[in-house]
Amino acid sequence: MGDGASDIATPPGAAAPSSPSRSRGFLRQYELVARVQAYQPDADEDALNRAYVFATLKHGAQLRHSGDPYFAHPVAVAGLLTELRMDEATIIAGLLHDTVEDTDATIDEVRLHFGDEVADLVDGVTKLPRISGDEPKHKQAENFQKFILATTRDIRVLIVKLADRLHNMRTIDFMPKPESRTRIARETLEIYAPLARRVGLTVFATELEDIAFRIVNPEACAAIEKRLAEMVADSETDLAHIEDDIRLVMVASGVHGELKGRMKKPYSVWRKLEMKSISFKDLGDVFAFRLVLPTVEDCYRALGAAHREWAVLSDRFKDYISVPKPNGYRSIHTTFLGPGNRRIELQIRTAEMDDIAERGVAAHWTYKNASYGFDAEAARAGGLDAQGELRGFADMLAHGAEPEEFLEHAKLEMYRESVFVFTPKGRLVKLPAGATPLDFAYAVHTEIGDTCVGARINGVERPLRIALENGDVVDILRGARAAAHPHWEGLVVTGRARSAIRRLTRASERQELEALGRRLLGNALKRVGLAPDDINEPEIAHRAGHAHFEDLLEAIGRRRVSTADVIAKAFPGVQDPARAVEAADVVPLPSLVVGADLTAGVTLKLAECCSPLPGDRIVGVHLPERGIEVHTIDCQRLADFDTANDPWVDLRWKPAGPGETLAVGRIRVTTANRRGALATLCKAVSDAQANIVNVKTVKRSADFFDFDFDVEVEDAKRLTQIVAALRALSVVDSADRVRG
Ligand code: MN
Repeated sequence: MGDGASDIATPPGAAAPSSPSRSRGFLRQYELVARVQAYQPDADEDALNRAYVFATLKHGAQLRHSGDPYFAHPVAVAGLLTELRMDEATIIAGLLHDTVEDTDATIDEVRLHFGDEVADLVDGVTKLPRISGDEPKHKQAENFQKFILATTRDIRVLIVKLADRLHNMRTIDFMPKPESRTRIARETLEIYAPLARRVGLTVFATELEDIAFRIVNPEACAAIEKRLAEMVADSETDLAHIEDDIRLVMVASGVHGELKGRMKKPYSVWRKLEMKSISFKDLGDVFAFRLVLPTVEDCYRALGAAHREWAVLSDRFKDYISVPKPNGYRSIHTTFLGPGNRRIELQIRTAEMDDIAERGVAAHWTYKNASYGFDAEAARAGGLDAQGELRGFADMLAHGAEPEEFLEHAKLEMYRESVFVFTPKGRLVKLPAGATPLDFAYAVHTEIGDTCVGARINGVERPLRIALENGDVVDILRGARAAAHPHWEGLVVTGRARSAIRRLTRASERQELEALGRRLLGNALKRVGLAPDDINEPEIAHRAGHAHFEDLLEAIGRRRVSTADVIAKAFPGVQDPARAVEAADVVPLPSLVVGADLTAGVTLKLAECCSPLPGDRIVGVHLPERGIEVHTIDCQRLADFDTANDPWVDLRWKPAGPGETLAVGRIRVTTANRRGALATLCKAVSDAQANIVNVKTVKRSADFFDFDFDVEVEDAKRLTQIVAALRALSVVDSADRVRG
């Protein structure tokens, strides 16, 4: 499914496939059964056979874009699921996963033949029926909601879906339309790969990212691969040397196992360039070795030997064997200085830990009865709760978020790293990095968020806009009643808090806009000599193209409709002597910034010290006689303002409409003084689909150039991506956003 329907290419009048010429040897029925029996000897062979035949018959003559018969796809998905050693119900669901969506099979039919367990899994990965006229975006979001809900009930729904997506990505080159390839690849990077990581399915996540990144950002991918290749070429002998050294140390300490060397993948390098303020050369451990040993004792013995032999970077040492990660991951990580002061990361773990590191939640079905102790109850008590992780999304659904909103927030949340804070009673609360006291309040309880008026952090009252840090003790100060603060939406990072604030705001905002619209319309009526009592409200609304008068008032309040237009439409005969003057009461707010406290006509200016871009978190400072200056919330200069008379104005960015003006951001790039360097930089920026409006040489020496680029971008995130693209270039020493 996923891209299932668009991937069917049934030629008219095609016969059932007999010997498809382009088929790439898919798994035969007996092979699939044998694979399942290899790890689950008591598997129900008959059920597997029936499912294989059912899928084959139902998909019949349908073909994939590759020219393969369609049923090769569900068979491949089932094959991937056997690689994860999933239970029989999941394998059968893999075989049947597209039958209800793409053939005449019904969910009742599946239930009748294969039982409730399989039917529920198939239903979980089946999209809602298509109704013509649906907004495609809305539909996508609704489908995602349905799928997340099914996943919170049974995590195997997610595993089937990820196998489905992986096979579709492996065959994506056959999709004829480049824009479909890009859309699916982007969706994979934004949603499915992070979901796979979340539940520890590392093998799937890595391959999904690999294929998708190449499609979404081919230039950056190529640049990173080139640099990684240069690094390997530079250090090949070193690496072989280190590998030998590690083997020697193992032999000397009497442990025997498998040593694997590996290199970071382009996408993980890209994420680091994008997220952290580092340049390529500071990436550090691009090289890592993994030692897989028979027992835990062997792991510690090898660790001791390694630490005796090499200079260890103590701050990088992590023992996830004694303290597993919340997702169940166990391994020892240590980093030491190798030849040429190169940092080398070494991971040490047992074969079972290695297996769980690669398969995550899917390993549950292998180990739930084994001695490893990876059973759901224990794992949950220790913090692993893959379904609980996803339950956060389900909470958002309960708060009545619009499907689109939900999808957007889900994407954001999947990328966040965490911060751990405490309630005054010592309860641990996990939040995404950058979360504020408001996020905390909503995480504890919606009612606490709704009534929040302030926060005490580690005993000191602090503003609600600051980001929480690990270990903070947060005490929420509450008012008597819930109160709407629309601008608080800009202060939170969790979807849960945001949708709760929106829900609270929506009602009161609408009331305010209606009241404003009523005032504006009242003024306009007075101008043309009419009184509010003279008018027929439903009739005016109808003539102005709105179903209800309240909707019209809201539209006027939002300045989407001018009162002059309403008068002209509702009273065609009436002369509006002040049509020109009327325009004055619709002073447009500055196109990019909106705030709850802004009155029309106020001057807004972006501060030069921090040069805010759309997407940055911002705050306004009201300066007498000069209007409002907009700063980023981390601007150093905020400390200089006189806070005694409370100059703060809460502001947020208005979502930019298509074709709206772009903002200009500045990037400072230091490059080697090399022929063609500037051309390379300019090409990278234009490959990232941004416009350079100005380039300036800031400093030059025999070895280095400093350039400032002014680039047109739609928001801060875009600028971050360009900075990352520049950092990936070999001529670039450093690249950073410049403020001021
Ligand atoms: Mn499919």
